Amino acid sequence: MIRFKGILLDDNYRHQGLRKRLVAELEQKGICDRKVLAAIGKIPRHFFLDSSFVEFAYQDKAFPIGEEQTISQPYTVAFQSELLQVQPLHKVLEVGTGSGYQAIVLMELGAKVFSIERVKILHYRTKELLQAMGYNPRLFYGDGYKGLPSFAPFDRIIVTAAAPSIPEMLLQQLKPGGILVIPVGDSNGIQVMTTVVRQPDGSLEEKQHGKFRFVPMVENKK
Ligand code: SAH
Repeated sequence: MIRFKGILLDDNYRHQGLRKRLVAELEQKGICDRKVLAAIGKIPRHFFLDSSFVEFAYQDKAFPIGEEQTISQPYTVAFQSELLQVQPLHKVLEVGTGSGYQAIVLMELGAKVFSIERVKILHYRTKELLQAMGYNPRLFYGDGYKGLPSFAPFDRIIVTAAAPSIPEMLLQQLKPGGILVIPVGDSNGIQVMTTVVRQPDGSLEEKQHGKFRFVPMVENKK
């Protein structure tokens, strides 16, 4: 049980049962990383939605979180998390904090999370919620296109908004051996989930992993 904005949020047997069903559904859809599935099985996703929408929290769907933004679909969170191959103590940069759900999944995988959000209201609301839940990732208000040069380099970088192309500044902040996961494509249409691995010699290897649909990654408009 936690208190957020004066409201008590609890995680009861019914929520836990719905979550088990969601995890089974994700497995059926091809997610096989046990640690990712365990994280999704543990985190009360209904805390991230308005309390009147509990019914929707454990459906495999994206959902509005206000400010024209969405919490990503659980399958998408699982898919990106799997591609990221997080190891405990990895420094992970997330672009697009949004609800904070993906950030918490990364923390449950053992990452040290640094996450950037450009919508101020979301940044502050999410900070408060995650604190109430007992999680303390480093949350930043700013433009994710720039990354976080003063905390770079990162072992992993995950972008959770649609990027028209791969931002050069993010690539510069990726360690040798590091992995970037980013949906690339037209922000009004469909994006291709893309991974970029920086090889030990510094060269970059790019791979594509199917189509997804994200809200746009917005540049320099605060
Ligand atoms: N990871 C989030 C998904 C949020 S949707 C979750 O788990 O809920 C994508 C988020 O990216 C939105 O909140 C949007 O405001 C944010 N965003 C878009 N462009 C951005 C930018 N340039 N820098 C930082 N955040 C950005």
